[in-house]
Amino acid sequence: MEHFFTIQGEGYHTGKASYFIRTAGCDVKCWWCDVKDSWDTEKHLAVHIETSGSSPVSGHLDWVTLSPKRFKKPVDEIYAYVDELKVVVLTKKDLKWAEEEASKCPEGAIHLLQPEWDTPGSMPLIVDYVKKNPRWGISLQTHKFLGVR
Ligand code: SF4
Repeated sequence: MEHFFTIQGEGYHTGKASYFIRTAGCDVKCWWCDVKDSWDTEKHLAVHIETSGSSPVSGHLDWVTLSPKRFKKPVDEIYAYVDELKVVVLTKKDLKWAEEEASKCPEGAIHLLQPEWDTPGSMPLIVDYVKKNPRWGISLQTHKFLGVR
């Protein structure tokens, strides 16, 4: 719902510089609550995560992007939750890896290939592959082109 850098105001850690992250959806509904605006989850951020899948996920997530890595494979239970599979490509080996990972994802999951930023040869590899295998799309790190974080 909101996040801010401040000073802890109560409890054992009072007086310490603290970065607060306030999540939405409290169902307790105290009459004295001073952040009633946080109760309604519909008014605040859906929860999207991107994960390598190297550890199990928990909680309620609205969108899961799996970006698997060959050198530390995802845990099996992650695949059932995947909305979007995004595979970073450096070489042809990664395209084979991408197909193997796609076969484990649910029907209807989105398939994207993304060039590795510092590997210029990865882009033509992906363009050629997507033209021949149109169920795959291309993801680009647009924030890097724009110079934003
Ligand atoms: S004070 Fe507000 S956020 Fe805290 S438990 Fe009560 S209703 Fe929930």
